[in-house]
Amino acid sequence: MAEPTIITVAITGSVPRKKDNPAVPVEPEEQIESTQRAFEAGAALAHIHVRDKDENPSSDPGRFLRVKEGVMKHCPGMIIQFSTGGRGRAGAERWQPLLHDPDMASLTTGSVNFPASIYENTPQLIEEMAKVMLERDIKPEIEVFDLAMLYNAHNMAEKGLLRRPIHCQFVMGIPNALPAREKTLDFLISELRELEPDATWAAMGISRWQIVVNEWCLKRGGHLRTGLEDNIYRAKGVLATGNADLVRLAADLCAKYGRRPATPAEARMILKLRPAT
Ligand code: ZN
Repeated sequence: MAEPTIITVAITGSVPRKKDNPAVPVEPEEQIESTQRAFEAGAALAHIHVRDKDENPSSDPGRFLRVKEGVMKHCPGMIIQFSTGGRGRAGAERWQPLLHDPDMASLTTGSVNFPASIYENTPQLIEEMAKVMLERDIKPEIEVFDLAMLYNAHNMAEKGLLRRPIHCQFVMGIPNALPAREKTLDFLISELRELEPDATWAAMGISRWQIVVNEWCLKRGGHLRTGLEDNIYRAKGVLATGNADLVRLAADLCAKYGRRPATPAEARMILKLRPAT
């Protein structure tokens, strides 16, 4: 019996714009439709950023709510994860959308350099966001952009700021942060297993690394992330026609490693989430 693997679709993100790929969904209606197609192609978890009318990253809780409600309606049971990511958003406003109670939210447990900026997460802000998630029973996805973030997450779990089992996403291939190296992934997984034996994990690769890292994860029993946030191409130089296009590539890879895409109900059990409402 093939083991289920959770496919996350990161539908929009902060960086790609319609001029890079017209399939990048920006308006909430486009985001809902794109998520539904990805859901039908095998994605069980949607990672969501919203943009304003100029395509800039936004923290508008109303926009997050519109997308959440649309996804709940059209993708029954799908796990909804809000990004609390920075770019253009400061301090407390980053967690305001959590007051709309998504199933999960991203939590980056440290700061890191991006290609031309600092992704800043002060210890105070990390703790503040973790407390909001604990209080509201929102499961964090720990975004590991650099090694210290893994140890910080473990320390937070020790202090009771994160509920166990934790779930980590290893982010590989962003210039100035963790490289996309298979040996690096092996080290991250072995450290995670030692420190947090019951943790679940996924990894993602940026741009051309997306499909490569999908395969590394399948080989090692991890979960997958794909989507236009991380990569706008379905193949070398060929633009993806939508998020579903990329989900299909990941889903098609599963059988080669004795895996299959998890249903939303299975994904909720694997991540120890509350059942869908
Ligand atoms: Zn994101």
